[in-house]
Amino acid sequence: MSDAPKSAELFERAQRVTPGGVNSPVRAFRAVGGTPRFMVSGSGPYLVDADGRQYVDLVSSWGPMILGHAHPAVVAAVQAAAAGGLSFGTPTLGEIELAELIIARVDAPSLQQVRLVNSGTEATMSAIRLARGVTGRHRVVKFAGCYHGHVDALLAAAGSGVATFAHPDSEGVTGAQTAETIVLPYNDLAAVEECFAAYGAEIACVITEAAAGNMGAVAPLAGFNAGLREVTYKHGALLIMDEVMTGFRVSAAGWYGLDPVEADLFTFGKVMSGGLPAAAFGGRADVMGQLSPAGPVYQAGTLSGNPVAVAAGLASLRAADASVYAALDANAHTVGRLLGAALDEAGVAHQVQYAGSLFSVFFADAPVTDFAGAQACATWRYKPFFHAMLDAGVYLPPSAFEAWFVNAAMDDGALARIADALPGAARAAA
Ligand code: PLP
Repeated sequence: MSDAPKSAELFERAQRVTPGGVNSPVRAFRAVGGTPRFMVSGSGPYLVDADGRQYVDLVSSWGPMILGHAHPAVVAAVQAAAAGGLSFGTPTLGEIELAELIIARVDAPSLQQVRLVNSGTEATMSAIRLARGVTGRHRVVKFAGCYHGHVDALLAAAGSGVATFAHPDSEGVTGAQTAETIVLPYNDLAAVEECFAAYGAEIACVITEAAAGNMGAVAPLAGFNAGLREVTYKHGALLIMDEVMTGFRVSAAGWYGLDPVEADLFTFGKVMSGGLPAAAFGGRADVMGQLSPAGPVYQAGTLSGNPVAVAAGLASLRAADASVYAALDANAHTVGRLLGAALDEAGVAHQVQYAGSLFSVFFADAPVTDFAGAQACATWRYKPFFHAMLDAGVYLPPSAFEAWFVNAAMDDGALARIADALPGAARAAA
């Protein structure tokens, strides 16, 4: 592990005033050890830390930065919006434009209205409240290893940081808050059907990641999402497709563009706000019409639809043309191929798995299709692998349970650095 003296100094200072020294747990290096890097700037495919070291970034702020860092059109839009006032607490034109753009890009008959919120967590929390309000039912079905933000009712067998830190769930979440949450194995339609046979009349909704990215990348098996649509429809429950991670990343229309299953509600975040805090949920007009002030389900936010965040989202989505999606796909498959070749060469059993241009590596002999499979992998190999990559100037997610996020700004230089780093990292993992 190489030294990072300035980051170490900042981390010590941060730990005095912030729990664990970070404002979101997955940023800490708890699972991999060592000092989290404090970044000072980003440009294109690169980040620069407080010690002046440059990294090729394969985290992309956990998804949003598909265009790379400090994209000129996005920065200009943010500057212009900020100069015109930071927040008004009134409706603005930009909010209409962003809602229209999201609806047009996804182009799903069932996505007719959206409401803007500030984080993916708010989006899924609000979607669940709405599903309960609309159906008058109380139970929620989720899948083990799927993470939908830190919503109390959904912190049950969640992936991402909850899995990284081996929390069974979370202290502070009461039994009552998760008592109405049913957790089923991902990709197991028979389990869903059994569950509906037992509790169908009480189930308000099924929420699923459109393609799972929070236990590593685990795509839904063919027909799984469509099967969820069928079962929920049959039993009068709503289907919530969580596209916070996949939305506007895996295609211009998100996972829906690859596997067009009509949901009653969709949730979005990350890419749609270009790196600033905004997210959204949306669905059919009759369902969304139940939200306050039109309907009886309350939902609100002082900074919702913030003009600067909206400007960043509009500029990012407008810049994300077909060439950006072609670059994301090409970069993901190039890195995945190099990764597989390096691990083959080092004799390390592995699966490089894709969900569109999301991908990750599982140290396993057979493909991983659910959370139990992800947890059974030789995750101990990830720590030496991660640090060898970091030392060689490549920033990976500091957890074996996270997807890798490429961006479209990765050029030959960035890809060459990854290619140079991988063989040593693969040997370190052996
Ligand atoms: N849903 C999914 C699929 C996510 O991946 C995340 C975050 O990683 C969330 C919801 C929560 O979003 P946020 O972190 O913006 O609250």
